[in-house]
This record gives sequence, structure tokens and C-alpha cells, in this order.
Amino acid sequence: MNYRTIRRYDDYISAHIALGQLTEEQISCWLKDENTVTVDPAITYAVGGIKLMVAETQADRALQILRISENNLKGLAPCPACGSMNFDKISSSVGFRDSIRRFFTGKQKLPQYQCVDCGEKFVGPATD
Ligand SMILES: [Zn+2]
Repeated sequence: MNYRTIRRYDDYISAHIALGQLTEEQISCWLKDENTVTVDPAITYAVGGIKLMVAETQADRALQILRISENNLKGLAPCPACGSMNFDKISSSVGFRDSIRRFFTGKQKLPQYQCVDCGEKFVGPATD
């Protein structure tokens, strides 16, 4: 079976939470470079962090599970059109132009999200 990296983690705990969530959903997955990073955190960046490896055929489903749980954790509201938690941030609020705007107006541009299930685009709270 072929595996591919779907997420990278800087720390052992986040990597294991994600692994546990996917395992519960019967996704075939494992962590690459986990031991290297745990034994010597200083080389985490050298090896590119702990990689969450998922069976190629289950990668889309795995990403969906992680996206939903990450959106829930951030306290984001569901898609206004269909109520799904399966959406991606498609624009960030941290561009150079936005920093300038914020400096002069005190207003922050909210990031835009797109629903994976129905394609609806909507603005949501800044989460970073
Ligand atoms: Zn939707």
C-alpha cells in the first residue's frame, strides 16, 4: 500500500491526537520520524517534523476528518449554506496590505473560507 504525508507536526502530542482520530475512523496511518523528533527536538526542523502518513486511497477522507476536527477546535461556525464543518481557509488576514490597513484604520480584514461540501464562500473569524 502507498502512503503519503498529509500533515506535519512540530510536537509529539498534536501528532498523536491526529493519529488517534484517524485510527478511530479506521484510516490506515502511521507517524514518520516520530522517534527522531521525540529523542532530539532540536532536529525537528531538519527532518521536517513528524509526518502523518496516510494510505493514499484514504487520504481525502483523512483530510476531511482532520479539517472538521481542527475547525471545531478553533471554535469556527459551520458553513452558512449547508451547515458542514468541512471547509478550508482560502485567504489569510495577515497580508502586507492588510497590516497597513489595520495600522491606519484599526480594522482587521476577516479571512475567507470555502466549504468543501457545497462550495460556498464565506468570511469567518481570524484564527491566527
Ligand atoms: Zn457548505
